Amino acid sequence: SVDELGRPLIRNSGQAYLNAGLPVAARVADLLRRMTLEEKVGQMTQAERGAVTNDATLVTTWRLGSVLSGGGSVPTPNTPTAWADMVDRFQAAALQTRLQIPLLYGVDSVHGHGNLLGATVFPHNIGLGSTWDPALVRRIEHVVSEETRATGPQWAFAPCICVARDTRWGRTYESFSESPWLVSQFASAIEGFQGSNLAATDRVLASAKHFAGDGDTEFGSAAGDYTIDQGITVTNRQDFARIDLAPYVPAVRTYNTGTVMPSFSSVDWTEDGVGNPIKMHANRELITSVLKGKLGFAGFVISDWEGIHQLPGDWATQVRTGVNAGIDMFMEPNSYQSFETTLLDEVRAGRVSQARIDDAVRRILTKKFELGLFEKPYTDRTHLGEVGSAQHRALAREAVAKSQVLLKNAGGLLPLKKNAKIYVAGRNADNMGNQAGGWTLSWQGASGRDRIPGNTILEGIQQVAGSVTYSEDGSAPTAGSDVAIVAVGETPYAEGFGDVGGPLWAYDPEDAGVPREPKSLDLQPADQAVVDKVCGAVAKCVVLVVSGRPQVIPPAQLQKIDALVASWLPGSQGEGVADVLFGAKPFTGKLSHTWPRTAAQEPINTGDPTYNPLYPFAWGLRTSP
Ligand code: BGC
Repeated sequence: SVDELGRPLIRNSGQAYLNAGLPVAARVADLLRRMTLEEKVGQMTQAERGAVTNDATLVTTWRLGSVLSGGGSVPTPNTPTAWADMVDRFQAAALQTRLQIPLLYGVDSVHGHGNLLGATVFPHNIGLGSTWDPALVRRIEHVVSEETRATGPQWAFAPCICVARDTRWGRTYESFSESPWLVSQFASAIEGFQGSNLAATDRVLASAKHFAGDGDTEFGSAAGDYTIDQGITVTNRQDFARIDLAPYVPAVRTYNTGTVMPSFSSVDWTEDGVGNPIKMHANRELITSVLKGKLGFAGFVISDWEGIHQLPGDWATQVRTGVNAGIDMFMEPNSYQSFETTLLDEVRAGRVSQARIDDAVRRILTKKFELGLFEKPYTDRTHLGEVGSAQHRALAREAVAKSQVLLKNAGGLLPLKKNAKIYVAGRNADNMGNQAGGWTLSWQGASGRDRIPGNTILEGIQQVAGSVTYSEDGSAPTAGSDVAIVAVGETPYAEGFGDVGGPLWAYDPEDAGVPREPKSLDLQPADQAVVDKVCGAVAKCVVLVVSGRPQVIPPAQLQKIDALVASWLPGSQGEGVADVLFGAKPFTGKLSHTWPRTAAQEPINTGDPTYNPLYPFAWGLRTSP
């Protein structure tokens, strides 16, 4: 049987698992009982869209449980409808399998459905953390879910509930806070994604990641290594529970996160004698005993991208170790076929138990039933027209305004008067790619010329101020300007500093050869120069740091700056920055990460005995509108 579009439908001939009136557990038990080992192993396997896209029948042949779009792996054209069509095409292939088990499609909606051109792009988590407003973030993730599910994917690899303890970590921008307490408050983002009914057309399965200690790795020894987000957390079990595991307690117990993704990092217990780090993907103690046992996690564990490839031993050992550690589904973008055959061998040889396989599949199927996929496997496009809507963008704008942290405001310069003559400079003033950061259109983020629908910070300023002169490098005459606004900061990166070089880390082929910036938390020399030039020439100077983490501002520049604002990575609605600069809204943001004086102070976190930052945790000046 097919639907009006010719797509296969689920044939209901009275099987218990297709009876929506039965409890999910009963449906899962019925389905599990009918499945072959091959079908079970298929459910545990996730391939990358690029590896199956030319031949969707691979989804059928390998009975895949899931497909993902890795960063930037998008349909052409990159439109809401093309996304939904793509996901439905894979779904149709999944429904060609014997038992017609629907497919789960996952995507990194880490600050909006960022891979989709035209989606609402929200501030990255570091900005959201600075709002100190978990209720706002719940509303945001609800919108993100709506935009994601309406275009096909029913699963977001978000939120990152990492507790970044060293801002040199390349994924600090994905961290709500250095404070385990504050990150735990933001674990409520999971509720924004999942709501109370996963089958709703505007909700998706969430993934709390990366379990655990991803933000707490020792930076020092791995300095300069692009695998900095894959380092080692050297700690004891007590501190690990207090800092790194803390957000997983509400994530699991209060918000019932559907999935958890282990971290690429390792943990090295000091009480066991340092020098024996255990990769999280192999960590049976933490995944099985702590997460599934002690915390009572009822969802499923999805490995990170080829995470098991980093485990010691040969491929069979890596597969076996991952499964036996408690990972339920495997993100094997390209090696999905050999993953399946190897796992089958391991089970047949008795090195992986049938019970372990059944446990994994039971967990996966439970979520598929809860998502309502057996009733409605294809994309419900009801909300398709709301992708990037004015209402969604208004929410993003509100979040941007609330995320801005006013660090310094000499002489009460802010808010500015609308009739002031404004001079805008700096490479991050009119650069959508830079203000959106990583995970936007592509993994490493979009390059400046990419036109992501929305408004740059400059455009936001132009909408409000009567007189605006703009010069990226500050070379246009500043004649007669009352106030300069200089937007400096970082260029996009995803999982490292973005400056490692090599094809893997280039933004896109056209950008290959663009020199990456030196690894440093310091304001770039070019940014220092534009601050020197413009702030030296205009009477009053506002500097916006548009970056994924606090940056070190040398005293010479700091002294020239009247007002300093941490703008973070605001995303598509740069108008939110102008809202606070010109007083339409008050500054209310507060630092959720300590702002150091020098990079050498890292790791620096509130409560440290010798804590002496430039701006402390929770710092943020207020203005009245
Ligand atoms: C990242 C994850 C992400 C996954 C899928 C990995 O490289 O560490 O955070 O969810 O890719 O794109």
